[in-house]
Amino acid sequence: MKISRLPLLLFTLLLLPGCAGGQSVPTVGPEAEKHTRTVLAMDTVMELSVYGQEGSAALDGGEEVILALEKLLSVTDPDSEIYGANHSGGEGTTISDDTAALLEQALSLCGETGGALDVTIYPVVSAWGFTNGNYRVPEEEELSALLERVDYRKITLDGDQLTVPEGMALDLGAVAKGYAGDRIMECFRDEGVTSAIVSLGGNVQALGTKPDGSLWQVAVQDPTGSGYAGVLSVADKAVVTSGGYQRYFEQNGRVYWHIIDPADGCPAENGLVSVTIVADSGVLADGLSTALFVMGAEGAAEYWRACGGFDFVLIGGDGAVTITEGIEDSFALYGNWTDHELQVIRR
Ligand code: ADP
Ligand code: MG
Repeated sequence: MKISRLPLLLFTLLLLPGCAGGQSVPTVGPEAEKHTRTVLAMDTVMELSVYGQEGSAALDGGEEVILALEKLLSVTDPDSEIYGANHSGGEGTTISDDTAALLEQALSLCGETGGALDVTIYPVVSAWGFTNGNYRVPEEEELSALLERVDYRKITLDGDQLTVPEGMALDLGAVAKGYAGDRIMECFRDEGVTSAIVSLGGNVQALGTKPDGSLWQVAVQDPTGSGYAGVLSVADKAVVTSGGYQRYFEQNGRVYWHIIDPADGCPAENGLVSVTIVADSGVLADGLSTALFVMGAEGAAEYWRACGGFDFVLIGGDGAVTITEGIEDSFALYGNWTDHELQVIRR
């Protein structure tokens, strides 16, 4: 069995401007001072870059936000709120404002996506070994028994009271990094930062523009190799990719990835190999990148037409690229992907 996890740094930040060198460093503008930090959390390498005088304090704040959220949301840390709720034997537990805020957004996304996103999928993800690396292909009966313990509608959230029924388990892995991105942006703004970009694994979140006023260039990874398939130009956006290539294992010549279709408990195979969502909110972008991967291209287009509020870049197993009209002028195919088919979906 071959096990693979791509280095997460491959993804993202192209063409960030270099640091300022001179003596007088303006707060903003093309020469603004660049501050960077790497944080290892949530099973991910996180890179934070902030421009301007406030950078250092902002980075301290951003790092604190990440570490605090990891402590609250981890599925495996016995001290986390999620672990506590998952092991409460069906009793209500008291949770923090952050956990409650994320859960509220996550549960509504589960509903809006008709359960394509389901934050109670953990028992199934675990059976496939994605939680600890002991990969295996479960039998159909095992999966159908486990699926009886999967249903986000059975989670009760009432203010700061969370109840996870006995036998069920919450896993916010599909949205936690998006929430972390949102909270980091909030923290940077509070520090007076106007130009910053963070890369949390496959999640990029940008605050403002580059110091020189130009747009951030965020790359969409080539799902079939190590280069880039396209580049997005953005300001003040979350850009989040879910890809079958990000975490998977191979057995008997078949590839099994970590995004599960809650309809049958198997890795979602609806023709897509990568889904990138561009939105104002990190939670929305993160949750929808997972959900639309499950839905497939047709379902994703239908969902976009019905709900809107975001844009997407879909990459099919056949190499076809589909984008929504909102990013028609800000997305470009890259390198040897320039001769791939590019379809624009309109309302
Ligand atoms: P990553 O965390 O690798 O960036 P995603 O944001 O797509 O990728 O989240 C995938 C994670 O979410 C999986 O590792 C698993 O824990 C969980 N997950 C898988 N399928 C679903 C699903 N349909 N709904 C909710 N969570 C899921
Ligand atoms: Mg996601």
